[in-house]
Amino acid sequence: MIKRQNLKILKNHETSISCDGDSVSGRHPKIFLTLKDGSAECYYCGKLFVTEDTHEKYLNKARKNFKKNKKNV
Ligand SMILES: [Zn+2]
Repeated sequence: MIKRQNLKILKNHETSISCDGDSVSGRHPKIFLTLKDGSAECYYCGKLFVTEDTHEKYLNKARKNFKKNKKNV
C-alpha cells in the first residue's frame, strides 16, 4: 500500500483539477492544474492528483517492486 498522504484519486475522464489546499497541508490560492499522463502535482501544497487508471498502474508497479525486494532479502 502506498502511504502517501497528499494523494487524491480522480475519475478517469478528468483532465484538469483545481486545488486550494486543505486544513492538513494548509490553504493556498486556488489554482488549476492540467493532468499530464494521468497525474498532476500541486506546486503549492505538493498534493498529487492521479486518475484511477494511473493509480492502479502505480499500485501494480509498487506491488512488483515489493515482491522483488522481498526476494532479494
Ligand atoms: Zn494545492
